Amino acid sequence: MNAVPKAAAPKSDEPIVRIRGLKKSFGEHIVLNGIDFDVAPSQVVVVIGPSGSGKSTFLRCCNGLEQPEGGTVDICGHRLVDHGVMLKERPLNALRTEVGMVFQSFNLFPHLSVLDNITLGPRKLRGASKDEAAAAAMALLEKVGLAQKAHAMPASLSGGQKQRVAIARSLAMRPRVMLFDEPTSALDPELVGEVLQVMKMLAGDGMTMVVVTHEMGFAKEVADVVVVMDGGAIVEAGPPQTIFSAPTQPRTRAFLQAVL
Ligand code: ADP
Ligand code: MG
Repeated sequence: MNAVPKAAAPKSDEPIVRIRGLKKSFGEHIVLNGIDFDVAPSQVVVVIGPSGSGKSTFLRCCNGLEQPEGGTVDICGHRLVDHGVMLKERPLNALRTEVGMVFQSFNLFPHLSVLDNITLGPRKLRGASKDEAAAAAMALLEKVGLAQKAHAMPASLSGGQKQRVAIARSLAMRPRVMLFDEPTSALDPELVGEVLQVMKMLAGDGMTMVVVTHEMGFAKEVADVVVVMDGGAIVEAGPPQTIFSAPTQPRTRAFLQAVL
């Protein structure tokens, strides 16, 4: 039922995400000004930078939630955006299932149980049977430490539990890459760790991830590459040791001074 044929397993050096010259404006305001960006299989890329620098818009362009006006976006070797022109709806939807996204605000369906939140996508979009989807969902809930909450309603969960369910729901679509947009920013401080722990586990499993976060400890510990955005551009990118200990760009230094 996928309109886009499932990508053959990429060669180990073929990027899962490949972006060239990405441009996006809102009216006169240039929000992304020519971004080039690659994510290799199993790589964890952490994106940092001041508020308003274009981080969320950038992530949204990676899964077709935002229509850029220039550049190309390839996901698993399929062209999502070609010189600023986005795929039409059907192949777009198929390709979106390759890209999981977790937002700051959880976005669980409030009227569905935890289990139904997770099984909805696989049943509707992947044609999974009820039993098959439920078994896969239970395994994912086990993984994020919430098997006992399968029949709970979202309103009864803590923020950290909601976000772990949102991660499980996204994983249920078996994405090739997971995008996280400030997944812990809405949480009380004592709940941040349990969500970061799940993300760390995913990274350990080899999941390809792009994470926008202000959690510099997570970036230092888990990132393969840290990308610094400012003013709609990537000002610097490199391994965390370099970015945090020996940044070369004044704008990176200024940002790190403000947050560390
Ligand atoms: P970040 O995630 O780094 O804080 P965003 O990508 O959310 O940055 O926003 C970058 C800039 O684009 C901001 O100035 C923001 O106000 C603007 N922007 C984002 N989305 C919209 C929109 N839908 N309409 C108009 N301006 C927007
Ligand atoms: Mg943002």
